[in-house]
Amino acid sequence: MNKKLKYFTYSQNSLNTYKSCPFKFKYKYIDNINWKYDDIGSREYYDSLKSGRDFHLLCERYFANIPIGKCEDKKFNKWVNKIKDLLPINEENIYLPEYEIRLNFAGRHIIAKVDLVIIEKNKISLWDWKTENQEITYKNALNRMQTVVYMFLAEEIIRKNFYANYKIEDISMNYYQPSLENKPVTINYNEKLHEEHKMKIFNLIKNIEDTDFNNEDNINKNSNHCKYCEFNKLCNSEAINYEILEEDIYGS
Ligand code: SF4
Repeated sequence: MNKKLKYFTYSQNSLNTYKSCPFKFKYKYIDNINWKYDDIGSREYYDSLKSGRDFHLLCERYFANIPIGKCEDKKFNKWVNKIKDLLPINEENIYLPEYEIRLNFAGRHIIAKVDLVIIEKNKISLWDWKTENQEITYKNALNRMQTVVYMFLAEEIIRKNFYANYKIEDISMNYYQPSLENKPVTINYNEKLHEEHKMKIFNLIKNIEDTDFNNEDNINKNSNHCKYCEFNKLCNSEAINYEILEEDIYGS
């Protein structure tokens, strides 16, 4: 195992990166290459990510019950109002915005930073706000690495440690896109899905640990992913198309 992985903290983002392309994982997490803001074309893309982060901050303030402040952006005002209508604050619930969950999984550290966790009677709901316009379908949500990691950690840490009287079926993962008129996409949890998630995470981490990152000839390159990858210029001397670049994460 590469020594950089000894104290590495895995996240849905890093696991997803390896799944997309092991070589990309090497660039990002072994070599620590940061490709952001290197040219004018990238600016708009990373500005849109910042805009997503700003919206997440407004939501965090709303659910933390602190003033959200004056919001100049009409789009954000509309989105926040939609979230208020969707999830009005109920004093009987517990709201945990930007909630960090950490797990030691057979000696490996895994982290998830959830936009919002709501604890209700017999209900543990994880929420994620998506500000992009591309619609998230149920199938896409079900297969997302984010769903896999977040639900696995919610069961292992939140339910088992703090709400052991709840059932695993009380956990749900919800994606909401305020830019669309769609309802949230909800994944309900169960034991079978939990076992599948556990194996997916374990197998991916095993593959990462078994990869010889010191020998570039031994690292797989996924050429199908290149057009969505910020390292396309580095690997293939091809211009990066920021219109179709793979989504980055807001925060962790
Ligand atoms: S450009 Fe292609 S091969 Fe290179 S890291 Fe990205 S996805 Fe992998």
